[in-house]
Amino acid sequence: MNQTGCEKIVLADAMGLRLIYCRDCNVVEFEIGAVSLRLCPDVVQRMANMLMKASLKLDRLTPTSSEAHELSETHVMH
Ligand SMILES: [Zn+2]
Repeated sequence: MNQTGCEKIVLADAMGLRLIYCRDCNVVEFEIGAVSLRLCPDVVQRMANMLMKASLKLDRLTPTSSEAHELSETHVMH
């Protein structure tokens, strides 16, 4: 692998998740803990869209993840 001459830009870095863009390879490296994926920027954008939709759906499916719900209905907590 020729990674020596690559100019890498950190796009996002939070809670063990990291997105790094490599200009020379035109590749986005998605690091999840010890796992690292190499994706094209195109796929990353589609993935982000998908994750957004999935996250919204999850919010609706899991009542505990909704903060607003917890605040308005404190008696639900045992
Ligand atoms: Zn590279």
